[in-house]
Amino acid sequence: MSDCIFCKIIAGDIPSSKVFEDEYVYAFRDIAPMAPVHILVVPKEHIASTDGINAENSVYVARIFEAIPQIAAAEELSNGYRVITNCGEDGCQSVKHLHFHILGGKQLLENMG
Ligand code: AMP
Repeated sequence: MSDCIFCKIIAGDIPSSKVFEDEYVYAFRDIAPMAPVHILVVPKEHIASTDGINAENSVYVARIFEAIPQIAAAEELSNGYRVITNCGEDGCQSVKHLHFHILGGKQLLENMG
């Protein structure tokens, strides 16, 4: 999508701090980190949110979740981490391209509400 910031990052039109890339997945450091390690993992195909996942594109989600433990290992998150995706208005999704936050590098708060 031409006006999507994460599509532009994947295309290299906007700079990012890349930590992982394969045929389906692109991962980069969040520009406003909420933990010592804060990485965004996104599908290379534009999917707007979890509401846009279907049988045709779910391979991207599967590949994202195959990449996540590799990224966590590379970031030395052996004591654990959190994976979050925000969807829609109530979920406080600000970028309308599906992305999974990996948060770690410290003891995270229990409250997610
Ligand atoms: P969400 O609120 O779940 O939609 O998360 C969007 C995330 O994208 C936020 O944590 C932002 O800090 C992050 N973000 C926005 N623009 C950029 C960018 N150019 N590079 C890296 N992270 C970004």
